Amino acid sequence: MTETVARRVESFLLGSWQTGTGAGKPLAHAATGKTIAFIGAEGLDFEDALAYGRDKGGRALRAMTIHERALMLKAVGMALMERKEEFYAENAWTGATRRDGWVDIEGGIGTLLTFASRARRELPNTKVLSEGEVEPLSKDGSFVARHILTPMKGVAIHINAFNFPVWGMLEKIAPALIAGMPCLVKPASQTAYLTERVTRAMIETGLLPDGALQLVCGSAGDLLDHVTGQDIVTFTGSAETGRKLKTHKAVVNNAVRFNMEADSLNAAILGPDAGPGTPEFDLFIREAANEMTSKAGQKCTAIRRIFVPKAHEQAVVEALSARLSKAAIGLPEDQNTRMGALVSLGERDGVREKIAALAAEGEIVHGDPDHVSLVSGDAEKGAFMSPVLLRCANPFDAEAVHAVEAFGPVATVMAYDTPEEAVALAERGKGSLVSSLFTNDGAVAAEIVTGLAAYHGRVMIGNRGSAKSSTGHGSPLAPLIHGGPGRAGGGEEMGGMRGVKHFMQRTAVQGTPDMLSAITGEWVDGAAARHDRHPFRKSLEELRIGDQVETASRTITREDVEHFAEFTGDTFYAHMDSDAAKANPFFEDRVAHGYLIASFAAGLFVDPDPGPVLANYGVDNLRFLTPVYFGDSLRVRLTCKAINPRENAGHGEVRWDCRVTNQKDEVVAQYDVLTMVAKTWPPAEDATSG
Ligand code: NAP
Repeated sequence: MTETVARRVESFLLGSWQTGTGAGKPLAHAATGKTIAFIGAEGLDFEDALAYGRDKGGRALRAMTIHERALMLKAVGMALMERKEEFYAENAWTGATRRDGWVDIEGGIGTLLTFASRARRELPNTKVLSEGEVEPLSKDGSFVARHILTPMKGVAIHINAFNFPVWGMLEKIAPALIAGMPCLVKPASQTAYLTERVTRAMIETGLLPDGALQLVCGSAGDLLDHVTGQDIVTFTGSAETGRKLKTHKAVVNNAVRFNMEADSLNAAILGPDAGPGTPEFDLFIREAANEMTSKAGQKCTAIRRIFVPKAHEQAVVEALSARLSKAAIGLPEDQNTRMGALVSLGERDGVREKIAALAAEGEIVHGDPDHVSLVSGDAEKGAFMSPVLLRCANPFDAEAVHAVEAFGPVATVMAYDTPEEAVALAERGKGSLVSSLFTNDGAVAAEIVTGLAAYHGRVMIGNRGSAKSSTGHGSPLAPLIHGGPGRAGGGEEMGGMRGVKHFMQRTAVQGTPDMLSAITGEWVDGAAARHDRHPFRKSLEELRIGDQVETASRTITREDVEHFAEFTGDTFYAHMDSDAAKANPFFEDRVAHGYLIASFAAGLFVDPDPGPVLANYGVDNLRFLTPVYFGDSLRVRLTCKAINPRENAGHGEVRWDCRVTNQKDEVVAQYDVLTMVAKTWPPAEDATSG
């Protein structure tokens, strides 16, 4: 282990690194007790910092498109990955082993990169997001509405817990920055040195606009006094602090959007079918032991309550105790260590007090909260603790076991008689981030999971089918909700693009189709159209939304339908048998295949010669609305609806509104055609690369 000189942790505000006044409060290494850093934010001007973020950072981010912001984050994420060893060097100071640190450091960077790539895949390359369909509000189509999303014009203030100094920051700034909101991160003081390291690396990339990311290391002081209705606060930490901040005067008075992630008494349930000897039993024991010992149980998602069928209670206690006794406890950097230290001696004392409250309702069946045997390190100086397993015989009469979160390697086993009881016991936690169920029986899963869902943000099912691939009970994943109702805070983080939209305002815009097209950048039916050249002859340089082609008509014959049926093998009776078709409630006679209509439509609207349209990659929202009979004649109106140039590539995606009508002007088919179109034509040298 290398000797370190204690450093002063700094804050990054108003475009520079600042220490404020005073020498700072000493921070101790979790496992050795040595002073490793000093922290303090006294004298720093948070009011100015927030104004700076809103003005400089917000303005710069809003000037970028969603894809530009996502690509910026991708580059930042790659730069962080290259420097990850610098972060691991300080990870051990928090008491975490390298394996624990992987979740925080590489898990955090991975989350950032996931957001960067999904945003480019799932959101358009625009500054304004449109949501849902255009709503017609008048009979003549001249007054319509659509929802748009734009970034809030304040600062996203992220107040985080001590246990994930890296992931905690990155999982929140990724959706906020993609949405176009500047961030101010306030990590928990105890582990803020690691957040500071990562923030320095991000700032040093030079990629983030001035004011887009600020950091407060030390006490938050009067920070929340200065929030406005355009700021958003996300809080992760204890329920007690969360409640205090959520009811802060300025937060309440300004109706500030406040997302809270707090304590959670997460459960794991062993299904009635999953007795000893089944793969599910073994998976359950492994997962429960892993959740108790990884990060020394200091995970918001860790399993705190273990519900098992009465018949298997003793077997679970024995198997879990045997597994826990194998957890080698010691210095986080020691190769032999399986479980490191808690974050501080103060936290360890707090966990001991909570174990005492839990033990008053049951008994300790494994571990000793006051004594620990170590493979390395000094039990007096480091915040080491043995895993502690309790059993509570009367869980329906107990209170503390469903309410007290011992934030360490602690869990309680409780027995249930029926699946209904298991659900009722889980609900006693009053809302959790996650619970897991171990069963190989679909009926058990259906009953318990639907019973649990209203009280949970996430439910994981473990069984033999996913034993090798499962990401496990404890891992939040960027595309999925992280959060939970009730005691868990009622908040929702991440969740893919839902997380991004949390940092935007949804506005219903009403007006003419032309106005809506101008605002959203997406052509709305009824807006002006241009008919100069066939739009397939235009590269993205020339193509505009509203560019339209109206085709000649084509009559559908019986021979066409029979040829298509024999050629494709689709001889469904409605196309082939007049009597059978007439007996069908929807048809008056034999009808053309829907796919024949879509194929003829393409035949009508394409301009066949090589040109800027590079490929058709699918259709969206295809609907066949009116039956087509022999003798009907079809026409197509194809309109450029949305253009999404790709950053770093010679092409972009173009969405076309395709409407097929018959001789009576009835719409027979409606859909969006999706194509790739070159930015220039003829293409530049590397136009289609990337
Ligand atoms: P904490 O003591 O509640 O602190 C959380 C954050 O609030 C810290 O950054 C803290 O800063 C800050 N804070 C405290 N008082 C404040 C004030 N008056 N104004 C502004 N900020 C203030 O929680 P913790 O001990 O760090 O974390 C452990 C808890 O977090 C556990 O209960 C755990 O369940 C929960 N947690 C929940 C999740 C989740 O997603 N649900 C995730 C991780 C952890 P200082 O450190 O400077 O006081």
